[in-house]
Amino acid sequence: MSIKIGIPRALLYYEFYPLWITFFELLGAEVVISSRTNKQIVESGVQHTVDEACIPVKLFHGHVVDLRDKVDYIFVPRLRSICKGEYICPKFCGLPEMVRHSIKDLPTLIDITIDCIKSNRDLKNAVFAAGNFLTEDRDLITTAFQTAYIAYKEHKMILKKQLFPPFKRKKIMVLGHPYTLYDSYLNMDLLQKLEACDTSILTPEMLPKPVISHYAQNFDGQLYWSFAKKLIGTVLYLKDTKSVDGVIYISTFGCGVDSVVAHLVEKIIRRDTTLPFMLITLDEHTGEAGINTRIEAFIDMLKWRDSDENHISSHG
Ligand code: SF4
Repeated sequence: MSIKIGIPRALLYYEFYPLWITFFELLGAEVVISSRTNKQIVESGVQHTVDEACIPVKLFHGHVVDLRDKVDYIFVPRLRSICKGEYICPKFCGLPEMVRHSIKDLPTLIDITIDCIKSNRDLKNAVFAAGNFLTEDRDLITTAFQTAYIAYKEHKMILKKQLFPPFKRKKIMVLGHPYTLYDSYLNMDLLQKLEACDTSILTPEMLPKPVISHYAQNFDGQLYWSFAKKLIGTVLYLKDTKSVDGVIYISTFGCGVDSVVAHLVEKIIRRDTTLPFMLITLDEHTGEAGINTRIEAFIDMLKWRDSDENHISSHG
């Protein structure tokens, strides 16, 4: 019987899942992904974390509890940096410790440390450390990771090909962290609701990384955080290319990064463009009716602009 490795469907699962699923499967493990976010997972996450934690971290705990009795190991990497010269939100650094101290009776955690701040070479050690939970064959681990990396890149290419189907009327950039944009329970199907309103959605994941990096360089200041660089680079791209009709930023209550970045994004949009902008902040208490009303009002405003642009406020 193969070893079961659980991967929580939360946080950077949404960015890297093709990589780690393929990697562990090629090493012979059975990979179990936690259930899609649901009411029980939210409640369990809230119960196992402090009130001050952001909702994505609470959800991560809920997903770990969902896997607890189903697997032999749970993959909870300690992320310090995922890109040379950039840091990630400090909450990713303490994930294994937070989870261990908050949730009882856990299986062994695969708590490798990923730190690419100096170079991607350090990633190699992390990959071997993860692979060693299943095998000591270094060649096998290397081959598995190379194949997994190709799967990850292919997944990225598919996302980029989704860019703007031509038949939709309005184009909206939806900004936010991948785990807020792609967890449809957390964001209450926001992307699907926008698409149902005859709009095309663009997210930062659909833009090529070199394009984002190029535009991020134009920012007047130092961008240390990977998330900040991605979001600011995307907004500066929008400013130059004028490729969308409006921008929605989905933030989460208690997010330290968003408390700075959402403000900067809004400032750039208000100052340098005429794009309508709307900030939506989510937490575990957010009501769906309120979100629906705001989306409908935003779409209506975009449509009114077509006929009466000079009289409509650019404020969402
Ligand atoms: S970036 Fe914000 S939402 Fe994400 S883990 Fe850090 S504090 Fe939470």
